[in-house]
Amino acid sequence: MSIRITGATLPDGTSTDLFIENGVFVDKDTSTGSTTVDADGLIALPGLVDLHTHLREPGFEQSETVLTGSRAAAMGGFTAVFAMANTLPVQDTAGVVEQVQALGARHGYVTVRPIGAVTAGLAGERLSEIGAMAQSRAKVRVFSDDGHCVSDALLMRRALEYVTTFGGVVAQHAQEPRLTLGAQMNEGALSSELGLAGWPAVAEESIIARDVLLAQHVGARLHVCHVSTAGSVDVIRWAKARGIAVTAEATPHHLLLTEELARGYDSRFKVNPPLRRDEDVLALRAALADGTIDIVATDHAPHPVEAKDCAWDEAANGMVGLESALSVVHTAVVASGELGWSDVARVLSGKPAEIGLLSGYDTPFRVGSPANVTLYDPSATRTFAVSDLRGKGLNSPYLGRELPGRVIATLHDGYATVLDGELVDGDTVARAAHHG
Ligand SMILES: [Zn+2]
Repeated sequence: MSIRITGATLPDGTSTDLFIENGVFVDKDTSTGSTTVDADGLIALPGLVDLHTHLREPGFEQSETVLTGSRAAAMGGFTAVFAMANTLPVQDTAGVVEQVQALGARHGYVTVRPIGAVTAGLAGERLSEIGAMAQSRAKVRVFSDDGHCVSDALLMRRALEYVTTFGGVVAQHAQEPRLTLGAQMNEGALSSELGLAGWPAVAEESIIARDVLLAQHVGARLHVCHVSTAGSVDVIRWAKARGIAVTAEATPHHLLLTEELARGYDSRFKVNPPLRRDEDVLALRAALADGTIDIVATDHAPHPVEAKDCAWDEAANGMVGLESALSVVHTAVVASGELGWSDVARVLSGKPAEIGLLSGYDTPFRVGSPANVTLYDPSATRTFAVSDLRGKGLNSPYLGRELPGRVIATLHDGYATVLDGELVDGDTVARAAHHG
């Protein structure tokens, strides 16, 4: 199978043709009868990698499945996702992570790399079978209790020590549980005004401060999930200046949306950690631009309609984000000039792959490298709608909002998963994925 992409603009602004054969880039068009994709006016980004996706299978298939989440990912320009461990059963044994990995490979839309739970059953009481998951066919390298904080300092220390033996990383959901009991939104003047229980910034910042010191103490690598406050940025900047091996992510929604959206009590804007203040959003954008925050990760969190279609304080936390991520990054930090497309390639592909030890993303577009490509039309605009979603979750905070850009094509390991802005059908993708 061969594909020729003509007239694409690379992230650095140069224009080129790209030739793909047997899953990798080649230096010239050698075969006749190849598929041609006209990329005039389109930016070719390396295939996007999401370090923080909730695929919900096994156990919560009414919210999402590996297949539907993979389709949402491909539609958003992703070629690989890391699947969070809060499934049922929890991804805390070799058997479950191998099952999730195999489902991803069977469907073929994206590479699915399972994340292992840090503690058994996400219960925060004893470590999970970290070694068995690392040695399994799924070769797990990222461990997280996301949804829950590993709040016990000794367990966190032990987890950091353990994953270091095979080069893994612990991704912490930084939320001091006692400080956030019953929390409904960012703590501040607005939460008082709205009469909603507050989630104070210090509950995030204090855990990050503790964990960077623990990481330094044991010589481990730490990743911080969904950083949401200006104070957290300060702590991470301080840690990096001291040479501590910490990396951090911001979500698209924390780069664009603020707590003001809670005013309407529309539960689509209820998320954990909560939307914060303007000054937090600005600090996150600046931190992404200067490298204090390393990557953007979606925290794609699909829910069935009934989990969101209720009063604010009863609604589930979370937003879907895979299909909109690139457009939201575009409007939040590219349109403002803070990030260029090379930076976008770094924060949405190269760096998340590096943190998660996912191979094949270190030399994008180079001859011999796996052909993972996203073709993006930066001049398109659209009113984001339910018809733009491909996963099961309709809980997008962007419905009805004008967003720039559109993913026109996604190529995963050299075969198309999205063409002409629409998903390629599942049988074709699965056949291509297993063709050698
Ligand atoms: Zn989380």
